[in-house]
Amino acid sequence: MNCIFCKIIEKQSKAEILYEDEKVISFLDVNPLNYGHALVVPKVHCENFLDVPEEYLPDMFTAVQKVAAGIVKAVKPDGFNILSNNGRLAGQSVFHCHFHIIPRYTQDGHKFRMSFKKYNDNGMKEIAEKIKDCIITNEEINNNG
Ligand code: 5GP
Ligand code: ZN
Repeated sequence: MNCIFCKIIEKQSKAEILYEDEKVISFLDVNPLNYGHALVVPKVHCENFLDVPEEYLPDMFTAVQKVAAGIVKAVKPDGFNILSNNGRLAGQSVFHCHFHIIPRYTQDGHKFRMSFKKYNDNGMKEIAEKIKDCIITNEEINNNG
């Protein structure tokens, strides 16, 4: 498989590794938004967040917090973003799930330009009901698994 992150996991490609355990690896992004910008990656090939096997999720989130704490201590940003792009339209360019941890500074000049929508009268309730109906419960997961 021609996946750069799998190659980094397998140590076939070089990376500046920050943290590694049985299920997760974290390394510096080669094209940082600010110095210290890191990626946290599950050690299993999965295209996006929805494909991450459940047994990897707790370790992934623990690693995101550990690495973020390390970045904050090391480079003393004014804040940090944690984000994951899922799908080409959302900005994903490497199709192996990952979280970005991006240290931010008051004067760094980066802006996330978003144009916010407004809900009409019932719009918020309607979309909430629709999503709630689609959220799979733990019971359903156990019954299907
Ligand atoms: P995405 O655009 O999918 O959300 O994020 C992919 C990130 O992976 C990009 O920020 C990009 O700079 C980084 N990246 C791509 N190839 C490599 C690589 O070979 N090594 C490292 N360390 N980062 C990479
Ligand atoms: Zn991969």
